[in-house]
Amino acid sequence: MKLAFCASEVFPFAKTGGLADVAGALPLALEKLGQEVVVVMPFYKCVQDGKFDLQRTTGGINYARIGKNIKVYFVANDAYFKRDWLYGTTHGDFPDNLDRFAYFCQQSLEIIKAVNFKPDILHCHDWQTGLIPAYLKTKLAADPFYKNTKSLITIHNLGYQGLFEKGQFWMTGLEPKYFNPESFEFYGKINLLKGGIAFSDVINTVSPTYSREIQSKELGFGLEGLLRKRREDVFGILNGLDYSVWDPAKDDFIAAKYSSGGLSAKAEDKAALQKISNLPVDKNIPLFGIVSRLAEQKGFDLLSSCLEEICKNNLQLVILGTGDLKYHKLLQQVATKFTKNLALFLKFDESLAHKIYAGCDIFLMPSQYEPCGLGQLISLKYGSLPLVFKTGGLADTVNSDNGFVFTEYTPQALLESVDQALKLFSQADKWRLLQKNAMLADFSWEASAKGYIHLYEKAKKS
Ligand code: ADP
Repeated sequence: MKLAFCASEVFPFAKTGGLADVAGALPLALEKLGQEVVVVMPFYKCVQDGKFDLQRTTGGINYARIGKNIKVYFVANDAYFKRDWLYGTTHGDFPDNLDRFAYFCQQSLEIIKAVNFKPDILHCHDWQTGLIPAYLKTKLAADPFYKNTKSLITIHNLGYQGLFEKGQFWMTGLEPKYFNPESFEFYGKINLLKGGIAFSDVINTVSPTYSREIQSKELGFGLEGLLRKRREDVFGILNGLDYSVWDPAKDDFIAAKYSSGGLSAKAEDKAALQKISNLPVDKNIPLFGIVSRLAEQKGFDLLSSCLEEICKNNLQLVILGTGDLKYHKLLQQVATKFTKNLALFLKFDESLAHKIYAGCDIFLMPSQYEPCGLGQLISLKYGSLPLVFKTGGLADTVNSDNGFVFTEYTPQALLESVDQALKLFSQADKWRLLQKNAMLADFSWEASAKGYIHLYEKAKKS
């Protein structure tokens, strides 16, 4: 099949979140399974300034290669994309985001045509590409080049929908009639994700459980009605994990390498983490780790309400994260009170993240909702048992055989789960068994890519 990916961020060229990982890794896995793939993304400043081997087509389109022979084409427009940030600054979103991403969508379709890559599927991602399925079904409906092209939109996080004032609808280049409640209109505003969902042939999210949850009032963010209407076309496929980056047997960031066959070196990683965290070095104290955005979605509302209670136990906790200032302050307050068992790193630090995944015994990830989640997949691979709330991708990957799951989003339930983990920690044989189960689970991209090929085939038949 011929597959064209359109995404606003693609690893390694530009990344703010999980979308970039998917858009960077899935094409590689699909190529390995014999699919023909191209990728299109904006020509950001970080791409222009980065150390990438950039080339140019005879028509003047910038591109780079990933995998064996996947071309990543860049939509250039310095006024729109040559900025220090992708979507906005710390002061808020860029005011011209509708203009920027409408341009990106239109130009993506132009580029794919210009390089004569007639795709079976246009695989779109999130609100930034929500106009593409609409263009295919309206402006381009009679275009012979795109006659047989179907669209799939992947929702990476329904919390971000791309909302704009209705007066800007002309910027989309669509006829005004498409500003209606069945497609782009959402409580008087333009909603790009909604339009993308309405016009796509197939829709998916990044875990089976999340694909069901987004059809409910609690987690549908106002789009549950539309998603329920399209439920025959809504699917969920778990993201994969890049085991060439995340593998304790090959990880150069960590003090000692280990695998499921021999876990003894993990104790060295624990000691190393305790040392750099300024915590007492003691293998018998259970060590919890967190690597996360500090945001409500990640469970920090819940955690803040019982962090002191948690810290009163005989345990240690290392937190690495950045995000909402209110959580920075709150965590700092608790950390000054519990210097012997809470270590705080309020920054983004790739190397330290690896050390935490390897060094901790229990990885804490009590997300309120979680489309897929990478943290728990990484910690499973590192034999650091995840402790999670039963939601989205966490519910699909963690269970009582490889970690700890609490089912009510309350401080009591979280505390009980912590207790349960502490009890099991003292039973070495049982703990080992869970660690082995965790480390042997396969969440590779190959499995996900096979799921996507299935979906592409469904879309082709639609
Ligand atoms: P998100 O919703 O933030 O995308 P995921 O669990 O899907 O959550 O992925 C988060 C990724 O970002 C993980 O690989 C995690 O290790 C990494 N990460 C988050 N915060 C930090 C940080 N402060 N330093 C280093 N890595 C981080």
